[in-house]
Amino acid sequence: MRKGVELSTPAIEVRRLSYAYPEGTPALDAVSFEVAAGECVGLLGPNGAGKSTLLLHLNGLLPVRPPGEPSVLVEGLPLAEANLATIRRRVGFLFQDPDDQLVAPTVFDDVAFGPVQLGLNGAPLKERVEACLRQVGLEGYGRREPSRLSHGEKKRVCLAGLLACDPAVLVLDEPTAGLDPRGRRELKALLNRLPGAKVIATHDLELAVELCQRVLLIDGGRIVASGQPADLLSDEPLMLAHGLEKPHLLTHRHPHT
Ligand code: ADP
Repeated sequence: MRKGVELSTPAIEVRRLSYAYPEGTPALDAVSFEVAAGECVGLLGPNGAGKSTLLLHLNGLLPVRPPGEPSVLVEGLPLAEANLATIRRRVGFLFQDPDDQLVAPTVFDDVAFGPVQLGLNGAPLKERVEACLRQVGLEGYGRREPSRLSHGEKKRVCLAGLLACDPAVLVLDEPTAGLDPRGRRELKALLNRLPGAKVIATHDLELAVELCQRVLLIDGGRIVASGQPADLLSDEPLMLAHGLEKPHLLTHRHPHT
């Protein structure tokens, strides 16, 4: 937690966030929600609902609005040009495709990239990188070439790189996409172990049930429902109305029981 941040300060606060892409496509329409420190929140919704656009706003990857009423706050800090560096340190973003995120010729250098930017070097850097590789189950992978790893291993290297900067929030775009069942299981177990708040956009409804304390259902750029995953996802008419389905995991449950 950032120095001086009160325990009750939400990790993320989004206030009436609207956004249209430059050529005019509307993507978000007055979206508001909070994520408490340490809370895991899932974003569900059909393709084109606005999930990725929302995630991109959480660490300032889309143009920040001019000063005024802030629409995104991270640990109470408004997302504004002057705070971007701090906010990007506090919000770790896992891209859907790890190849968009891996930057260095070795796993060690890749995980070290963030901490080096923060001024770490020598033995403390080595310790930090090794601890993060251990945390994601990739102990001893430091000399490997990221491009030669499996998709699941690449995702874990990316996660280690985020953890190395000690983020307060992890923002994850479809973390289990492209993984086989074992890879999915391992990644979910890993995410479950990681500290900090998480915002996870996913089509993996079982992940939402197993990991998230709360889910937000997004469609047409708006939050159309929110609640505990098992409640929301058991509501078959709601799921079908928004291009989703009730997961098999919940087939024996009735809505709101
Ligand atoms: P999701 O992640 O839920 O699939 P997106 O946030 O990607 O949804 O998309 C929301 C809307 O914004 C869609 O209408 C999509 O076509 C549009 N959109 C997404 N990315 C871009 C972009 N880079 N340029 C223009 N329009 C975009």
